[in-house]
Amino acid sequence: MKITRLETVVRRSKPATNPIRDALQALPGSGSVTVTLHADDEIAGIGDVSFGRIAGAPDALAAIIEHELKPLVIGSDLGMIRQTHLALLRETEYHGSSGLTMMAIAAIDTALWDCLGKVRKAPCWQLWGGARDRIPAYAMVGWLNYDDSEVRRICDKAVQQGFRAVKIKVGYPTLAEDIRRVKTVRDAVGPDIRLMVDANQSLTTAEAIRRGRTFQDLACYWWEEPIPADDIDGYAELTHALDIPIATGENLYTRTDFARFLKHDALDIVQPDLRRAGGPTALLEIGFLADAFRRPYASHGGGPVQLNIMACLPNAIYLETGLLGPNSPLKVIDGCAIVPTGPGFSWDQ
Ligand SMILES: [Mg+2]
Repeated sequence: MKITRLETVVRRSKPATNPIRDALQALPGSGSVTVTLHADDEIAGIGDVSFGRIAGAPDALAAIIEHELKPLVIGSDLGMIRQTHLALLRETEYHGSSGLTMMAIAAIDTALWDCLGKVRKAPCWQLWGGARDRIPAYAMVGWLNYDDSEVRRICDKAVQQGFRAVKIKVGYPTLAEDIRRVKTVRDAVGPDIRLMVDANQSLTTAEAIRRGRTFQDLACYWWEEPIPADDIDGYAELTHALDIPIATGENLYTRTDFARFLKHDALDIVQPDLRRAGGPTALLEIGFLADAFRRPYASHGGGPVQLNIMACLPNAIYLETGLLGPNSPLKVIDGCAIVPTGPGFSWDQ
């Protein structure tokens, strides 16, 4: 089947007046871009990219898709998605297959796999070969701008909803403030819930080692992005200095970045982002590459695409998500997210 049409829809959102914050930035939201493409003018596949910040990003991304990538996708063979992915990487190499360009490739790649799944009437994980039908999930419960009582309330809800693991932001100006927040959450969730900490690239290597020793004494489960994402030497130093696993990858691009980090023993847990990695094609490659290095895979962000990927990965350990809303299609049972069964990347049959 050939791809005959591709439409791009931009949704701009009004920035939140009280945005969530991590140690690096505020995230007021700025909208999303949805790619819808059609095979033989019939079956539609959908791919989404949403933005936590930068007001002009959705329009800039849509322009890359419309003016640069779309001509390569129209007329391509739906059965040759990897060939199309390579063609998009090759075309954009001149100005860099990274940043917004990689997010545009990810949106198209997601829409292509979704379309193929719908044509075959099967979830994508079944096209790729499933390894399991449920994945442990954790709830992100503590942004830096939340006060302790709000964090306690969210922790209570996460436990009630069946989560067996939670994550909080750290990276306050002092270690004492980080310790206070970790102890607050431990007190709220009890001794049996796993607790991960994430500093969003905000520390120096020396400070990350100092705080990492404290977090491992406090029995935190992983230490996420303590230092700038591209500091491969710093990450190698951290993995050797600390017993607590070092998780990173949400700000790395393509399997090549991950291969460098794996080769240099610069991470313990890979955490690729669907948008920055370059779509499901790349996430699968990164997942199996990590498995060959005997490193676990945890998602950055949740959703049906990451769940379809993780259903295929023997080394998948955690899906990231937030609290479940009243209409959330995600089901969490005994701490595990149930893998969707609908065609493509849709939730249910
Ligand atoms: Mg993170």
